Amino acid sequence: MSRAPARFPDPALPRGSGRRALVTGANRGLGRAIALGLGRLGHHVIVGARQRAAGESAAAELQAEGLSAEWLALDIASADSIAQATVVLGTLDVLVNNAAILVDQGVPALQVPLEVVRRTFEVNTLGAIALMQACAPGMRTRGFGRIVNVSSDWGSQAMMAAHQLAYRLSKAALNSATRVFADELRGTGVLVNAMHPGWVQTEMGGANAVRTPEVAADTVLWLATLPGDGSTSGFFHDRQPHAW
Ligand code: NDP
Repeated sequence: MSRAPARFPDPALPRGSGRRALVTGANRGLGRAIALGLGRLGHHVIVGARQRAAGESAAAELQAEGLSAEWLALDIASADSIAQATVVLGTLDVLVNNAAILVDQGVPALQVPLEVVRRTFEVNTLGAIALMQACAPGMRTRGFGRIVNVSSDWGSQAMMAAHQLAYRLSKAALNSATRVFADELRGTGVLVNAMHPGWVQTEMGGANAVRTPEVAADTVLWLATLPGDGSTSGFFHDRQPHAW
């Protein structure tokens, strides 16, 4: 069991200095820890969540610590919801594509309904791509952007194996999208990276998971606060390169 770091976030990480950061799926699990970490680093945190009560509660948790935060209604599988958030999305400095679903855990590829594959892509891949498309132009214009795609080793080609076809393909495609966006934005000040958080104690990870959300969030915070000459088009785990 990996324990929570003595201090969260790592005090050696650079300060956000009021930069505007959106975390999708920030109402619970890993997203909530990422939002808290970004807030404590001095970002203005935009808590992306599709349910009002859950989103407001997560934003209130940050505000109760004196941090700058607001809730943004955002269902990443809904084009309408993303369209309604266009103005906010155009102002972001940091985008963390964290929200995802895993609905075919343990299901063999021979049995998974195509509808499950489609739905998983809608959230895990197309939702993240739509947000990158909405956010990147403003980042490029302002010459600063950090995009972090929360992926999974289940999407790594090097580790591809049986079961979870929908989830695996959705994350493999997200990894590829990371590299395409990163290359198109190279030299603009916008860095785009993916990361694998490990097996995390959340609803998705389940009760037997070995890492706390805070430990898993560290690499996201590191990527969200990279200096201008930091990595782009990378895939990381615990701040180290991970096999694609
Ligand atoms: P959880 O299932 O605990 O949380 C998922 C979050 O995504 C929730 O906030 C959920 O919101 C949100 N979400 C789901 N669908 C949508 C949608 N359509 N629009 C907006 N938000 C949505 O997952 P984790 O915190 O464990 O996972 C976070 C990330 O880490 C994911 O990308 C996951 O794939 C990745 N990951 C997790 C691992 C683990 O062991 N936990 C391992 C490897 C990768 P709501 O509450 O409304 O459902």
